Amino acid sequence: MHALALALSLLAAAPPAAPAPAASPPALGPAVKAVLRYEATRFVITHVRILDGTGRPAVEDRNVSLEGGRIAAIGPGADVAPAAATVLVDGRGRTLLPGLVGMHDHMYYIARPDLDAGGHSDPPLVVPQMSYSSPRLYLAAGVTTVRTTGSVEGYADLNLRALIDSGQVPGPHLDVTAPYLQGKSDLFMQMYQLRDAADARRFVAFWADAGATSFKAYMHISRAELGAAIQAAHARGLKVTGHLCSVTYPEAIALGIDDLEHGFMVDTQGAPGKQPDVCPMDQSSSFVERVEPGGPEATALLRSLVEHHVAVTSTLPVFEHAIPNRPPLDARAMEVLTAEARTAYLYARNLRAALPPEAAARALATFRKEQRLERDFVEAGGLLLAGPDPTGNGGTIPGFADHREVELLVEAGFTPPAAVRIATLNGAIYLGRAREIGSVEAGKAADLLLVRGDPSTRISDLRQVELVWKDGVAYDPARLLESVRGRYGQY
Ligand SMILES: [Zn+2]
Repeated sequence: MHALALALSLLAAAPPAAPAPAASPPALGPAVKAVLRYEATRFVITHVRILDGTGRPAVEDRNVSLEGGRIAAIGPGADVAPAAATVLVDGRGRTLLPGLVGMHDHMYYIARPDLDAGGHSDPPLVVPQMSYSSPRLYLAAGVTTVRTTGSVEGYADLNLRALIDSGQVPGPHLDVTAPYLQGKSDLFMQMYQLRDAADARRFVAFWADAGATSFKAYMHISRAELGAAIQAAHARGLKVTGHLCSVTYPEAIALGIDDLEHGFMVDTQGAPGKQPDVCPMDQSSSFVERVEPGGPEATALLRSLVEHHVAVTSTLPVFEHAIPNRPPLDARAMEVLTAEARTAYLYARNLRAALPPEAAARALATFRKEQRLERDFVEAGGLLLAGPDPTGNGGTIPGFADHREVELLVEAGFTPPAAVRIATLNGAIYLGRAREIGSVEAGKAADLLLVRGDPSTRISDLRQVELVWKDGVAYDPARLLESVRGRYGQY
């Protein structure tokens, strides 16, 4: 019976789609059509479990219809007669979730010239753009919206957004973050170095005019430059986040920052010998290394963040790689890497495995404290966002690492529905798009992923993505992954 319904639904997908309603995406080019699962625009997903992104428990046996790029209706599970131009998707044994909102999701790969097995590489650090592979990897994982959270090639990310929005290239919705607001440092070859506060204002105006919709401050910015950048961005209704070091969290809160990257790991407040506006650049300067969760310093910081409505972005996967003997990369993730990227990952993993036991124990303890602080932040009423920081570094791979982030939030002690909310609705709230995306709700955009299994009880089922909709367009994760096999690290 269900096999027949499925067969009929496949036939129903064959005729040309009905005329596009106003809300439909633009005409799709060949590169997008090549990775679609269905060309239809109307779907009914029957008898599916919904994990809706609000943090509420999963709901069993629902029918969900999609039309005109939107979630048209959600009702009780029922068998549905095949109808022309409507694809029936059997949702039994599957779970429907809102598309993930990746809040620290780059479009580049950090290459290390002449990298050797000892981890040495030669300067300068160049950062190739992954404008081809990254958007496909995000979409294959069901990440339908991303903030790029620091561009190394600002024009490339802006042009990529235009290509995606015009239906020429497959990829998620992009909140394009301008190139990094960075002070005096030659860390990445492509980074601009701000001269002073006036320069920071000019920089923000220039990139906002060019189309950037968010900003990110980086490790060597001064308080004066950060303050000027925040004022200039806010004057245009745009938000600023930061991967800070030279500026402490309390200083950034006072300057009006909107979000802080990497949880609490990069806060340098109270670090021994910390000079104003100078990044100490050593691990022991980390807030997480020095304070106890639940203690007065931690409690005061969390309270201040909540009072000032400053979000925090959890990027647990990029820190997990500092610990030896953690789970290896998903085999499918290994397959999308170039041979060189695979080697770089294996070199890093090999070196980590040789860490002395005390150092390994310390790395794990710090990671556990970070997880605890993130949980305490949410319990205190804070808005926690999720994004894995994929740069290839240590094997943090677009899409795969977005799933790993949710798994690590569950490891931190969040329930699966709460962890999924952090990776969906919370991001939508921060971006000001919660009326459109971030949860499975009638009327919202049909940005959805369908997975085999039940991530509400076993979070790793999130990896079993069978279908991804963005604006009601149904993408095939297997085709997307196949299209980038052996390419991540190259383009
Ligand atoms: Zn980053």
